[in-house]
Amino acid sequence: MVVLITGAAGFIGSHLVDRYLADGSVVIGVDNLITGGEANLARARENDRFTFIHADVAVPWDGVIDELERRGTLPNLILHFASPASPIDYFEFPVATMMANSAGTHRCLDAAAHWNCRLLYASTSESYGDPLVHPQREDYWGNVNPVGPRACYDESKRFGEALTMTYVRSAGADARIIRIFNTYGPRMRPKDGRVVSTFIMQALQGEPLTIYGDGSQTRSFCYVDDLVEGIMRCAASDATRGRVVNLGNPEEYTIAQLAQIVSEILGVPLHVDNRPSREDDPTRRKPDIGVARELLGWEPKISCADGLRRTIEYFRGS
Ligand code: UDP
Repeated sequence: MVVLITGAAGFIGSHLVDRYLADGSVVIGVDNLITGGEANLARARENDRFTFIHADVAVPWDGVIDELERRGTLPNLILHFASPASPIDYFEFPVATMMANSAGTHRCLDAAAHWNCRLLYASTSESYGDPLVHPQREDYWGNVNPVGPRACYDESKRFGEALTMTYVRSAGADARIIRIFNTYGPRMRPKDGRVVSTFIMQALQGEPLTIYGDGSQTRSFCYVDDLVEGIMRCAASDATRGRVVNLGNPEEYTIAQLAQIVSEILGVPLHVDNRPSREDDPTRRKPDIGVARELLGWEPKISCADGLRRTIEYFRGS
């Protein structure tokens, strides 16, 4: 199989690259390195079956298509993961985020039509915004502020979803959508601003853990290996064509609990620095993974404590 992964140098993209290579696939990684890091591809670059193309998915793909056709490596599967995904990243690159998810998704869908290949679009739990329904099922339409600071991410991901379904309905595309809930693990950037990486780095450095608001807001944290397994099953499944599938860990924690757990694992006293709430910060988030269980036989296996230990090892070594 030939797999083209956009956002290949990113946190999740690079884990997908490694897993598809381990399974014997030919992998083409595309990334503009706006937030991804080439170091994430160090292992992949040692493999003859891996090719890296430095390109922006939001601009015309003629060069990418020509190069792959010249080489005779035509994808059977496109995984569209290129987008800044951490709040601090999409606040810094709001227009690039909107373009990766709108124009970038358009290019991916057109390329999939050109090669007659399958597509998986990586969307997000942010499609549900600050949800009024709990836990979130795929048939919930969400509660999103279309003009707030997160809109560059939320609304462009939602546009990407709408475009993907339009290609399924009007052009018969073999496409599916996943909504990824908070995911963590090795290769997160220590300063990506996400809560898990931030708390681990602060605790390792003996600094107080910054909690936005009173810490009662919840998230559900999925270890990256579990997520990658779910993505690969979803991409391999005929039954997911034209479907939306939540992928995440349904175990829900308050941010205050997470701070406590990280401190306990590291054996350091918990010191908290309370900061004002972030605008439009969702108050509760937990996936209903009934569809993934039914269609893919998938559910996360790695406990929060185990996943955090593995992530801490990575941060200690990096
Ligand atoms: N958060 C926090 N302290 C931090 C970073 C994040 O309290 O240093 C909170 C943030 O306000 C949010 C949750 O943790 O309620 C998850 O934030 P993150 O940026 O990881 O991702 P989000 O789920 O908001 O996209």
